[in-house]
Amino acid sequence: MGVLLIIDDSIAVREELIDLLTAEGDFNVFLQAGDGASGLKILSDPAQNVDVVCCDLNMPRMDGYQFLRMARANPGLMGIPIVMATSETDATDVVKAFELGANDFISKPFNPSILRVRLKNMLHIKHLQDLLKAQRGMMEEMATRDSLTSLANLRSFRLSLEDEYHRSRRYGDPMSLLMVDLDHFKKINDTYGHRRGDAVLRETARIMVDVMRKVDFVARYGGEEFVVIMPHTGLEGAVKAAERLRASVEDTWFEGLPEAGDITISIGVTTLVEGVDVEVDGLIERADEALYRAKVNGRNRVEKADAAVK
Ligand code: GH3
Ligand code: MG
Ligand code: MG
Repeated sequence: MGVLLIIDDSIAVREELIDLLTAEGDFNVFLQAGDGASGLKILSDPAQNVDVVCCDLNMPRMDGYQFLRMARANPGLMGIPIVMATSETDATDVVKAFELGANDFISKPFNPSILRVRLKNMLHIKHLQDLLKAQRGMMEEMATRDSLTSLANLRSFRLSLEDEYHRSRRYGDPMSLLMVDLDHFKKINDTYGHRRGDAVLRETARIMVDVMRKVDFVARYGGEEFVVIMPHTGLEGAVKAAERLRASVEDTWFEGLPEAGDITISIGVTTLVEGVDVEVDGLIERADEALYRAKVNGRNRVEKADAAVK
């Protein structure tokens, strides 16, 4: 199944093409344009989902060459095959069309069988391109997202932290980092099973995204640890947000668990401010150290980083 855009100034030719191709069933939608300019408009509209273009060479206003030039100047249309159709079989025309980015050439009057196989072939190429594009999207998703929680993964956290760190250093604008760890999570797994544990991690991730601001960057650091990057946020604001997050998790009743309060988190907070000499890794170490103290001091707590730690 596919969408064919036919650009030809002759209505008779457009109808002939549709007649010849309808029975075949490869294309189920036929869009028509009488000249290059209106063809380009349809082609550039993502809602039209054009798969293949069949374009006449000689047309008034914008001709086939001009159409090709403009279509190929748009990187977003690169994957859409364009087949040129003309009654002139002069080799220089053919060569010129290919050089301008045409993918194939069909001569008029159409030989029905040749027309069909050539357009079918182009449609096949377009479908392969679409498949590759979708797969590339999935790979990108896998490289940046954690599959259990759908949060950003460690890799994209590191990239964002580097960015935010340098922005903060450059503009003297504070930023904060929260390191979050579920309390006694091993016991949850041991008592209710790993699958229930996974569900708790997913729900915790959801709460974090809910509670934090849209501009905050929430990621899964690994295992049952999460991190939040808070741009433009000083220590006081970060501690308040961390406390709100801690309380939200404590107040939540997690499905499959007896009651609210069964899941709690400990949070370490650190802030980058002007005059503090610390590298990116140092920031993580500070948040980690504060988290460690939150654990030692009884869990289900928020602790600030010790300024002396680097
Ligand atoms: P603490 O309060 O000191 O943090 O205790 P804890 O039990 O949470 O810490 P510990 O590091 O001893 O155990 C972490 C547990 O988290 C053990 C591990 O099996 C579990 N865990 C890590 N990743 C996953 C996961 O993806 N799914 C599930 N279900 N459990 C996980
Ligand atoms: Mg833990
Ligand atoms: Mg842990």
